[in-house]
Amino acid sequence: MAVFVCEKCGARVETRCKPKKCPQCSESGTMGKAENPKPQGKGS
Ligand SMILES: [Zn+2]
Repeated sequence: MAVFVCEKCGARVETRCKPKKCPQCSESGTMGKAENPKPQGKGS
């Protein structure tokens, strides 16, 4: 599962596939993948 966040209204959606449009504000093309909430440790 991945988390997508609407850049317009900030709605968070947990889904396997990227939503075409926001289920909250119905705006299309605003869904962006949220950062992984899990700590990834050190990276370069
Ligand atoms: Zn939205």
